[in-house]
Amino acid sequence: MERLRTFGIVAHIDAGKTTLTERILHDAGAQPYFGSVDDGTAAMDWLPAERSRGISITAAATRVQWAGRTLQIVDTPGHVDFVAEVERCLHVLDGVVVLVDGVRGVESQTVAVWRQAVARALPRIVFVNKLDRDGADFDGGVAELRTRLECVPLPVVVPFRDGARRFAGLGDALSGAVQWFDGRPDAADAPRLQAELRAAHDRVVDAAADADESILADALAGRRIAPERLRAALRPRVLAGDVVPVLAGAALWNRGVDWLLDAVVHWLPSPMETSRAGLWGVPGAGRPDADLCGLVFKVQHADEVWNFVRVVRGVLRPGVPWVRARQPGEAMVAPELWTMRADRHEAIAEAGPGEIVVVPGEYGLRTGDPVCAPTAVAALPPPKFPAPVLAVSFEPEDGRDLARLTQALRELAADDPTLRVDRDGDRLRVRGMGELHLEVTADAVRARSGVLFHASKPQVDRRETVAGAAAASQEVRALTSGRERSARCQVAVAPTEDDAPAVVVACDGAADAVAPAIDELRALAVAGSQYGPLHGCRIELHAAVGDAAGVLEPLGQQAAAKALAQALERAQVVALEPYVSFEVLCPEDAMTPVVADLASRGAQVAVVAGGRLGGRVAGRAPLSRMLGYVTKLRSMTRGLGEVHLRPVGYARR
Ligand code: GDP
Ligand code: MG
Repeated sequence: MERLRTFGIVAHIDAGKTTLTERILHDAGAQPYFGSVDDGTAAMDWLPAERSRGISITAAATRVQWAGRTLQIVDTPGHVDFVAEVERCLHVLDGVVVLVDGVRGVESQTVAVWRQAVARALPRIVFVNKLDRDGADFDGGVAELRTRLECVPLPVVVPFRDGARRFAGLGDALSGAVQWFDGRPDAADAPRLQAELRAAHDRVVDAAADADESILADALAGRRIAPERLRAALRPRVLAGDVVPVLAGAALWNRGVDWLLDAVVHWLPSPMETSRAGLWGVPGAGRPDADLCGLVFKVQHADEVWNFVRVVRGVLRPGVPWVRARQPGEAMVAPELWTMRADRHEAIAEAGPGEIVVVPGEYGLRTGDPVCAPTAVAALPPPKFPAPVLAVSFEPEDGRDLARLTQALRELAADDPTLRVDRDGDRLRVRGMGELHLEVTADAVRARSGVLFHASKPQVDRRETVAGAAAASQEVRALTSGRERSARCQVAVAPTEDDAPAVVVACDGAADAVAPAIDELRALAVAGSQYGPLHGCRIELHAAVGDAAGVLEPLGQQAAAKALAQALERAQVVALEPYVSFEVLCPEDAMTPVVADLASRGAQVAVVAGGRLGGRVAGRAPLSRMLGYVTKLRSMTRGLGEVHLRPVGYARR
C-alpha cells in the first residue's frame, strides 16, 4: 500500500486534463500511441458524446506503473454540470493534481474544484500547463494561486525561456537538474537561467528551513542540502495542505510530464498517509487481513455493466463471495476482476486495500454502495450529491416507445446520482444539474435507445417555504355507518434555519393514533402547495382527536390536510428557486452591455474587473433567468465571451 498513489487531475475545462492524462498513459508505458483530444482518439474520453464534444464527461479510473510505484489515476470531468462525477471521484482519491492553463491562469472551475479538494483535506500539487503558448505566464499563475486560491505555492519545477522568450527547458528547484527540449541554450542565456534556478532553489530551502531547524543551520552555513532532505522536511506540510508544490510544462508536447509523475510519487500520499477520516476512518481500513470492505464509487452501463470499487480493507478475489451492504442476505460472486489501462482491461487475481478495480457484471450495485464480506457488513460514508435543479420532459414521437425510453433513462440515472427520472403521463420528466447535463443526457438516450423523442425547454425545479410561523385547527364531520363522526387536528408550521426538506413531527397525543395524519402531512409536504416541495420549515401536529376509535384514519387525515392548508395560508407560502453563481469573461469593450444585460436578468453583480483576458464579471442570479445565456452572450461579444455557471442552492427571488 505504501507504493500506491491514487489521484485525480482536476481543472477548468480546456486546461489540458485529457491531454495530460494521455501523455501520462503513454510515458508510463500503458499506451503505445499518443491519443489526441483534437482528433478524437483520446483513450480516457471514450463515450461518443465526449469525443464529439471534445470534453470529458465520464470519469474513468486507470492504472500505470512509475518509478516502482502504482499510480491509479481517476479522470474527473472538467465541467461543473457534472458535479456528481467530481464529487464521487474526490471521495475515493488520496490526492489531487490541479492543472492550470498557463495563459488563462486560475479560472472559475479551478477555484470550485480547489475548494472541494480543500473541504476533503486532499493534498494538492499544481501543474501549470501550456507554457509553450504565447502569453503564457508561469510567475503570474503562481501569484494567482496565492491570491485566488489562498494557498502557499512553492515552485519545485521552473520553466526556462530562451533569448527569444520561447519555452526551452525546465529546472528542478530541489536537485538543480535541468532538461532542455531542443539542445542547450545559448551561452549568453546561461547566467540568467542559472540565476533563476538558484532563486527557485533558495525559495525551496527557505520553506524547508521553516519546517526543519537543522536545514536552517546548514543553509546559513552555506552547505548544500540534499533534495531528499528538503523533501522530507516539506512533505508533511504538503500532506497537510500548508504548502502546495507547483510544477511547469506543456502536456501537448509531453514537456514536464515525467517530472510531474515523479512529483506525484514524492509529494502525494499513499493511503497509509491520508488523514484517517472518510473511507480510511473505517475500523481495519488498510489491513489486507481484515474482512473485506470496499466502496462502489461508480457504476457504468456500457455494453456491459462495470462497477468501479475502491477496496478499503481486506481482499477482493474472483470466485469468493461478497455481499452488498444494502441487501446482505444475497451473496454475490464475481467471476472476474479487472484493472483498467485506459480503454483496455486486464484480469487480476486479487485487489487489496487502496486498490481500484472493476467488477464487471450486473449486481444491482449503485454509487455509494459498500461491498463487504458476508460475515462482516460494514457502513462506509457515501459520497453526497446535490439535488437536481433543472427539469425537461421527453416525449416519444411514437407512444409505443415509452417503455424503451424509460429503460434507457433509468440505466443512465443508475449511473448518475444527480439524474432523476419520473413518469408524467405519456412523458418522462428528467431532472439534472444544468443545461449541458440535460443535453448530454438527451444525446446519450438517443444513442442508447434509438427512440425518437421531443425534449421540452428546460424549466427550473422550484420549491417553497413559509415566510413566518402560524397554526390552524380544523374539524371534519362525516356520516359513517349511519352515525355522525368527527375528527379535529391542529397543525403548526414554522420556518427553520436550514434549507432541508420540511420535517413533520407529532407533538402530543397518542403516537399510534396520529400516524395516519402524520403520513398525510408528510405526503403533502413533499407534494408542496403552490410551487414545489416544502423546504426549510417544520410542521407540527399538535392534536388529532377523533370522537370514536378508528375515526382518525379517513377523517383525521382530511382534518390534518385542511389544518395544514390553513396554517400555510396564514404563514404565507413563498417560492424558492435555484440560483447560480456566474463568471463571465469577455472583451473589455463588451463589458457595459454584458453588465446591463445581466442586471436585466435579476443578477446581483459582485465583481466587475479587468482580468488577464479582458473583462471579468461575477455574481449570482436566478437560474431560470440564465437559461440560454450562453447563446446570448456569444451574440453580444462576437463569440468571444464565455460564461461559467455553478448551482449555489435555493433562495427566494
Ligand atoms: P480538458 O478539457 O482539460 O480535458 O482539456 P483537453 O486535454 O481537451 O485540451 C484542450 C485543448 O488544449 C486541446 O486543443 C489541446 O490540444 C490543448 N492543449 C492541451 N495541452 C496543451 C499544451 O501544453 N500546449 C498547447 N499549446 N495546447 C495544449
Ligand atoms: Mg477532457
